[in-house]
Amino acid sequence: MRCSEFLRRYSDFRDETIDDPLVRRRFIAHMSLCGRCARYQEVIDLGVSLLRSADQIEASPRFYARLAAAVLHPEPIFAVSVCTSPRS
Ligand SMILES: [Zn+2]
Repeated sequence: MRCSEFLRRYSDFRDETIDDPLVRRRFIAHMSLCGRCARYQEVIDLGVSLLRSADQIEASPRFYARLAAAVLHPEPIFAVSVCTSPRS
């Protein structure tokens, strides 16, 4: 397994949606040989652990109003301004 395949299919591995035990063993074998992908797994594990242990955050009522407005009337990400003044 190459790192690109590991990263591309990692979510499926982590979510245990890969049923083929041979494929799962290939992920585990890759992590035993590749420090970067093993580190990736560690960082994801740490992030998931932190999120699971965090207190639930309550959004303010103003947030929901702003979210609804943004969904219904999205602003363009990149605004292009056009200069209409004549060249000098
Ligand atoms: Zn790798």
